[in-house]
Amino acid sequence: MTENLPDILRLFCLRGKTAIVTGGSRGIGLAVANGLHFAGATVVAMARSSQPHEDLHSDVEYICADVSLSIRDVFLEISERHQYIDVLVNAAGISISASESPDEVQTHFDQTLKTNLSAPYACCLAARPHMRAGSSIINVTSIGSVLGFPGNPGYVAAKGGLRMMTKALAVDYGADGIRVNALAPGYILTDMTAKSYENLEENARRRRHTCLDRWGQVDDLVGAAIFLASDASAYVTGQDLIVDGGWTAKGMV
Ligand code: NAP
Repeated sequence: MTENLPDILRLFCLRGKTAIVTGGSRGIGLAVANGLHFAGATVVAMARSSQPHEDLHSDVEYICADVSLSIRDVFLEISERHQYIDVLVNAAGISISASESPDEVQTHFDQTLKTNLSAPYACCLAARPHMRAGSSIINVTSIGSVLGFPGNPGYVAAKGGLRMMTKALAVDYGADGIRVNALAPGYILTDMTAKSYENLEENARRRRHTCLDRWGQVDDLVGAAIFLASDASAYVTGQDLIVDGGWTAKGMV
């Protein structure tokens, strides 16, 4: 077994692959962009922020782009420079609690669907012509794609839709050897969840809902993303990889 270790590790190696990570300016997208880079990929991270975060590895290229606007030309330009897009991670996302602004719930619902569902579809469409057999699309969904959560129906609807879009595209792209999977985080400490993390009661409630008795960190998503991006998951498509510390496995809280 040990003499085969290098071959085993090669399964997870992303050398020679180009990866695009949307939402790469912070949080989960940033951690995944760095992780794919360390696994050997050439990585292009994108988000709306004009400058890359200081924690983004200096060898990761950063592009300022809004995925909810026309994105096709951005992907075309990347593919012209790198020939192929082998990995697409749709991590860009927003969460606007309905209670934040009750008068604007419909606007926020529509905005959330645009960023969290329509934009990942647009990115898949834009990447598809530049993908070859063995390519992988990873849609970052949420445990909200399989469970109802209060106060943010747009988020749950978008993530549930993204989960099913993942399966639909796995069917459509499978014949060309392109895999499409969902990566579903539980509660991970990022800017998106900072408010509930800082509230002691909310923090403990979420912690206790996991089997591991802790919140997730962004690095908890990196191994799963490398797995789904690499040949280690060559026969995995249309699936949900839930990384939630056991939240969805736990019955009684
Ligand atoms: P975050 O820290 O708020 O990061 C969100 C990222 O998306 C940022 O890089 C943001 O960058 C980018 N973004 C938002 N709108 C964009 C747009 N229109 N165009 C391009 N980039 C855009 O949140 P996160 O927690 O890392 O979330 C990452 C993904 O994981 C999201 O899809 C989220 O729904 C999902 N998720 C998170 C958790 C959690 O507990 N944190 C749980 C389940 C699922 P700019 O502001 O610079 O554009």
